[in-house]
Amino acid sequence: MKHIDEYRDGNLARSIAAVIAQEAATDRQYRFMEFCGGHTHAISRYGIEDLLPNNVQMVHGPGCPVCVLPIGRIDDAIRLAMRPEVILCTYADLMRVPASAGRTLLKAKAAGADIRMVYSTLDAISIAEAEPGREVVFFAIGFETTTPPTARAIRLARRKNLANFSIFCNHVLTPPAIRAILDTPDLEGAGRVRVDGFVGPAHVSTVIGTVPYTGLAETYRKPVVVAGFEPLDMMQAILMLVRQINQGRHEVENQYIRAVTAQGNLIAQREMAEIFALRSSFEWRGLGELPLSALRLRDDYADLDAERRFLIETVPAADNPACECGEILRGIKKPAQCKLFGTLCSPDTPMGSCMVSPEGACAAHWSYGRFRDSAKAGAERALV
Ligand code: SF4
Repeated sequence: MKHIDEYRDGNLARSIAAVIAQEAATDRQYRFMEFCGGHTHAISRYGIEDLLPNNVQMVHGPGCPVCVLPIGRIDDAIRLAMRPEVILCTYADLMRVPASAGRTLLKAKAAGADIRMVYSTLDAISIAEAEPGREVVFFAIGFETTTPPTARAIRLARRKNLANFSIFCNHVLTPPAIRAILDTPDLEGAGRVRVDGFVGPAHVSTVIGTVPYTGLAETYRKPVVVAGFEPLDMMQAILMLVRQINQGRHEVENQYIRAVTAQGNLIAQREMAEIFALRSSFEWRGLGELPLSALRLRDDYADLDAERRFLIETVPAADNPACECGEILRGIKKPAQCKLFGTLCSPDTPMGSCMVSPEGACAAHWSYGRFRDSAKAGAERALV
């Protein structure tokens, strides 16, 4: 199928892998972080790591929107949903993310809360129109990719004079999270998580373009290559990163030229800037409080802001202490290093957010990577 098969050609992938192996210097390690959960999923699904030489490693990043939402905000959503007048609209992934005391939106729904899974913000608008006697709150999460549709819903609600519609805004921004990763001390105390370069997000970059990464690449002297989600996209981006490192460059390059431009989608950016303002600080699961890393509704749209309408005051809540999502989201650990992985924690019984969404590193490893781990272990046993 055009635009699918041509990006999944195994022979081509192997030939790019051969070039990576040839060009990667044998006397050094290359550690590249894929920021985006979509890339994490693709790496697991297509076995990208199996194609790479041992000295080229991928590190998972925090770019899964469900994974980085802190427990306190899910607690807020559950409290909102339990109000008799409220219909809480949300995307399906959020339903099973563990909140405090083992609660989830799914359990709240089973207990009687009116929580409805929607496919788009426009579905939530339709529900508000159909239920004028109820308060319809859209639980908005995600990076810059899902922010424009939320902005569009707000504009539509204003135009339709929908007095019973509001947004619980949890939109977060990519560049501050990359900065936080680069500023994070690692577990050994050696100063920083060692990341030599980034595979930049695909969908986010269609909106914000490649320019916002330029300052990060220069300040931290780390190359960024924005890549598409297909296996050949990933392989080419990794080769581009290897070449930058070998040549001592730290530039922003765009592998995903069929969808991403330097400036991004200016219409979407204008819409976002008109409706949202920066929060001074926002908590991210695994990364803690990050300044200027999330959005709130501008004062002009205060009447559509659920946080103000329902006087929401988030109470921070601790993660399950046995769950390693925080370390995984910072690139310090891999899913299989969590002792709950595959024992107490699986997609049927997620103990942390990384096991819920298909974009979560633990869920991706559960679906694909663990089988390769077993195959490798079997092969090693056979050699002994
Ligand atoms: S396997 Fe489960 S408990 Fe462990 S880090 Fe992943 S989500 Fe958390």
